[in-house]
Amino acid sequence: MTELEKFIGKVYDKLKSGEYHINTLEQSVPEMPEKSKAYLNYLENTEGDIDKDILMKFVIIQLDYYTFSDSGEVFISDSDYDLATRMLRFFKMDVPTTNTFEPNTTAWPIKKHSAPQMVGSVTKVFSLDDVSKFIESECNSTYGSTGIIFAPKYDGVGVCLEYDPKKVEIVSALTRKDGTSGQELIQLIRKCKNYDDVLYHATQEFGMNKGYIKCEIVMSENDFEELIKEKPYKNRRNGTSGIINTPSNIEYAKYLTIIPLVYGVQKSKKLSYTYMPANSITTTATEIARMPDLVEEYINMILESTHNSTFEYRTDGVVIFIDNLHMQYPNVMSHAIAFKTNSKVATTTILYGYISIGRTGKATPMIKVEPCDLNETVVTDISLSNFHKVKLLDLHDHDKILVESSGDVIPMVKEVIKRGGVMQLEFGNKCPICGSVLAPYVAGTGTTEYECINPSCPRLISGKVTNFLEKLGANGISDQTILNIYESLEIKDIVDFLDIDKYKDRLINLPAWGATSANNFCNEIKRIRSKPITHGEFLGAMGIPGISTKKCKALFAEVDYDHFMKLCHEGKYDRADADLYEVKGFSCKTIDTFMEFIKSNMTTIDKLSKMLTLTKDKRAGANIVFTGFRDKEIEEYVGSKGVDVSDNINGQTIAVITANKGSGKTKKAIERNIPIFDAYSAPLTEVCDYIIANLM
Ligand SMILES: [Zn+2]
Repeated sequence: MTELEKFIGKVYDKLKSGEYHINTLEQSVPEMPEKSKAYLNYLENTEGDIDKDILMKFVIIQLDYYTFSDSGEVFISDSDYDLATRMLRFFKMDVPTTNTFEPNTTAWPIKKHSAPQMVGSVTKVFSLDDVSKFIESECNSTYGSTGIIFAPKYDGVGVCLEYDPKKVEIVSALTRKDGTSGQELIQLIRKCKNYDDVLYHATQEFGMNKGYIKCEIVMSENDFEELIKEKPYKNRRNGTSGIINTPSNIEYAKYLTIIPLVYGVQKSKKLSYTYMPANSITTTATEIARMPDLVEEYINMILESTHNSTFEYRTDGVVIFIDNLHMQYPNVMSHAIAFKTNSKVATTTILYGYISIGRTGKATPMIKVEPCDLNETVVTDISLSNFHKVKLLDLHDHDKILVESSGDVIPMVKEVIKRGGVMQLEFGNKCPICGSVLAPYVAGTGTTEYECINPSCPRLISGKVTNFLEKLGANGISDQTILNIYESLEIKDIVDFLDIDKYKDRLINLPAWGATSANNFCNEIKRIRSKPITHGEFLGAMGIPGISTKKCKALFAEVDYDHFMKLCHEGKYDRADADLYEVKGFSCKTIDTFMEFIKSNMTTIDKLSKMLTLTKDKRAGANIVFTGFRDKEIEEYVGSKGVDVSDNINGQTIAVITANKGSGKTKKAIERNIPIFDAYSAPLTEVCDYIIANLM
């Protein structure tokens, strides 16, 4: 049995036993290729037992997306290795120590890195706004005129070269791999197309010092054309990696180009870095503060210079580095982001307009279009987001439109290419679920939008239940599942859903359910009921209009829940005798809304608090410091638990999670006796749960 088959076998067992749900995998691997998503969808909707063949296909596509090898061995790139690693961690499996899933006996030798390696992949952003925010926050946390570098994000294989001044030679070339050791590619590197230039430049740059060059090994379009005459690779990625990973392919190294990105000079013990990526633009924080439009201008300059037909290498976005921090933390990749474009377009024809209703009743105008391929997915339905946008687009039936998706996000209508019919596109004015007429409201943007306000609309009721379960951390429960149970079993509210065991027999017999699905669902509800949930989390999950879970938690960190509920029961808690109105950060209006909600939902709240395992909220203001990596999702996760993520260690810091044990922040944490956790020791959500449960 191969490593891959073993891996799939384990995944299958975990899914079958109900220990994990397939669709939470999607959340743990957000950059999942579209094709994998399609299979996941299929798995999610399969009746009864999971189809092992489909699972196999899913995992293979997942890996194939990253496959470079031409010989059937599954190789993955560094950042994709991180991704697969996260997937394996999700299933609590051992992370392989090499980035091959198949044993590879003919690989290059593995050697230890002598220079610190940048660990973890760079955070990806998709909007210029996020780039500006990144620059601003980095520059606020540093000093002086920070250098900022915009550079193309080359799509190749990362290698670290070592220059020896005594030999006037590059003596080692290691792949990044796990950051502590890598494959020694020196023989191959010496055969690369521009090796002599790189060596010459290194000699000039380093002089009598030892030095390192971090570079990307890539293949040009022309070289690929030449290569496939000799060896038929599927695409450039496969070609590049097929040559690099298989020593017997060394003769094809002449088709590879070295792109130096970072030069590190070693003077005595100190290593200082300079960024000199090809085709990059260097500026300063001061300049950007004076002319914010430069961010867009520079990004466009790089995109234009790398996306035209004369540019020979594959790039997939722009990397933005903050220069001077790297001199202090040379092995941390956190002061950089990647702006990804990957924008894909397609044309299609509008068939008709319709309305989709969200969890809270909000109506979203949608269009059904003729199926078209976009980013490897077949698109049939497109959301227009809101009615204001419908007005702006001025769509008519049978219009031919240009559809765009950037990154892996939802398709958008970019523009009308050719006018179709004369009739303006209709969306109807009724809720497609309950049939009641939609009510207009003024959205935050000042424009008129529509919503279903029928309190007995199944969509609204089931949406509330889904929201509640999701906020309490339920896995594998979709809107559709809840709506399905609601409509088939006539289960009417959250209380009944938490009592789902009573309905289990009927659940099993529902079309498309069966024993496994029913068991999974009931087990998940059981888990939610026994899981400790704070008072704030509980009321936050109830969906009080305009009051977030974070606010609820902050409130009950100050106010005693039992006392408060007792007063509510006695109807005593009004403005006159309420210390509730003195809690910092809460306006009287907020508290009024809160009280109103509690009063009108008293019966449900009482029933639910008996069913759930409620605990006290902890003090607010505590923070966790992440160092050596960035992970927006986990930041949000921690935030949802009422704990902040701070950039700097301060008096409120309860723990430090590090991807780099040697960092300054880690040292500071040791000095201050703050517990330190390894970012790679366990899934981050578990690490954070542990910290929040034990260290607050
Ligand atoms: Zn409705």
